[in-house]
Amino acid sequence: MKNIILIAAPAAGKGTLSEMLVEKYGYVHISTGDLLRDVSTSDTQLGRTVSDMLSQGVLVTDEIVFEILENRLKQDDIKNGFILDGFPRTLEQAKKYDELISRLNIDLGSVIILESDYETLEKRIVGRMLCKSCGSVHNTLTGVNTPKVDNICNKCGGNLYKRSDDNRESFKTRYETFLEKTEPLIEFYQEKGNIHFVNSLDKETMLSGVEDILND
Ligand code: AMP
Repeated sequence: MKNIILIAAPAAGKGTLSEMLVEKYGYVHISTGDLLRDVSTSDTQLGRTVSDMLSQGVLVTDEIVFEILENRLKQDDIKNGFILDGFPRTLEQAKKYDELISRLNIDLGSVIILESDYETLEKRIVGRMLCKSCGSVHNTLTGVNTPKVDNICNKCGGNLYKRSDDNRESFKTRYETFLEKTEPLIEFYQEKGNIHFVNSLDKETMLSGVEDILND
């Protein structure tokens, strides 16, 4: 299976798409946000630094991000194909990632940009709730996967929680950071010729758009 790099604004559907691809094709999902959230819960100086950066919605330093990513990419389970979600976020990261994968002998794969608009994304962020047990994404505002019972996961019955950065203010910062730092990546990958654009306004269109790319 082709490796996939997902690039999108916050809440554009990276988590939802990844969940579908993991379930249907057995992809391994690597989210730098999830890896960093794990680190942020540790009672260490590093944990506290990362936790502060996450709640402000600013980017974590490359030094930290690359160390945890390299460790993850050295694990055996990635050999059959993985989805990179939330990375690279800057041109600098994309260039350093090229070096990293050539050193680890990993294929770049396809780069997929999920397209959406500000109002839709803001609603998704403000209403988003995640399952503590299985990670499944729910929403209390958009009508998509509304929890049938308050605060309980529709899929596995686990408890739902809100991420500390899923609020209007932090969304604005994260969206602006996306426009400023992440959009230049599009040009970078366009030059390499492995970039694809997929509309992420609804789940089914998004999945079939991605499947067309994977089967190409
Ligand atoms: P996400 O779960 O992808 O929305 O990421 C949540 C937060 O984790 C971001 O707002 C950043 O603070 C941090 N983060 C995730 N991926 C990266 C990355 N590639 N580089 C720097 N910070 C990141």
